[in-house]
Amino acid sequence: MIIVMRPNAAPAELDGVTSLISSLKLNAHVSKGAERTIVGVVGAPDDKETLLAQFAQLDGVEAVVPISRSFKLVSREARSERTIVRVRPGVSFGGTELAVCAGPCSVESLEQLELTATAVARAGANILRGGAFKPRTSPYAFQGLGEEGLKFLRQAADGAGLAVVTEVLDPRDVELVSRYTDILQIGARNMQNFTLLREVGGVHKPVLLKRGIAATIDEWLMAAEYVYAAGNHDIVLCERGIRSFDGHTRNLLDLAAVPVAQGLTHLPVIVDPSHGTGVRALVAPMSLAAIAGGADGLIVEVHPNPAAAYSDGPQSLTLPSFSELMERLRPVAHAVGRTLPAATAAAA
Ligand code: PEP
Ligand code: MN
Repeated sequence: MIIVMRPNAAPAELDGVTSLISSLKLNAHVSKGAERTIVGVVGAPDDKETLLAQFAQLDGVEAVVPISRSFKLVSREARSERTIVRVRPGVSFGGTELAVCAGPCSVESLEQLELTATAVARAGANILRGGAFKPRTSPYAFQGLGEEGLKFLRQAADGAGLAVVTEVLDPRDVELVSRYTDILQIGARNMQNFTLLREVGGVHKPVLLKRGIAATIDEWLMAAEYVYAAGNHDIVLCERGIRSFDGHTRNLLDLAAVPVAQGLTHLPVIVDPSHGTGVRALVAPMSLAAIAGGADGLIVEVHPNPAAAYSDGPQSLTLPSFSELMERLRPVAHAVGRTLPAATAAAA
């Protein structure tokens, strides 16, 4: 079961809850978020009505929720309202306005990022993406520019009024990457890197958690549970396709996972149609389908010259094709009660 404390609960009230838990020979898992504290009770039988009532009457307790699923804190049962992950004023995931992250697969140069940032901001994206630390299948492939790339990202994003999302590969780099980015991306290959999940759980920056290459939805939510339980409640889930037997697409974009996950968790869920398909021509149709199906946003690879990209050129949109996609997305978003961030000038 989990115990949700009132937003203004006093430390003594939290002590009252944890003392009762230990007197019952159960274990408390305290998760302190920016807004509220949640206590997971480990070892409690979920159907014990009297136990639930005992906790419910303690001072400072807002709700006691019996949870039978293995993921608890991120479950819908733990929180009936949808979580809105606020990145900064005007940029959030999970509200009426969709979040759109766009940019190259890899950070290659300042010029590449400035060109991209200006164009995607004009078209209405609100977050610049780009990898400075790249998880590559081959150790001989381009591994990213590291800290220099983080500096380019920050500079280009600030110049265009965008927030930044970038991947952190290694627990030892979490502090470094956090200095430059607004959102920490955990890549598909690291979804079950529990040390890394715990590390980003201790940071006060939103986490974008990609679904693992062969992860079930439950495993993905358990990964989110790690981050949440470590104290970081600002988590955005990202469906990016899973391994399949068919060679026509790089991965099998599991769009059904979006409403499935939204039914199981209060966290926002976005879609990556670029890694999800690996094919430029499929990015627009899958983006439209994702938004029509209720996704809370998109992360799309965009490059000024995809043919010359260091990585993932074949799935990258050009600057004009990204603008065109944004215009096609607007009526679809509207039809499902959502809005896209405003385009700031004529499409680039
Ligand atoms: C990326 O978005 O840069 C990336 C490497 O994606 P994934 O982890 O989903 O493969
Ligand atoms: Mn990529």
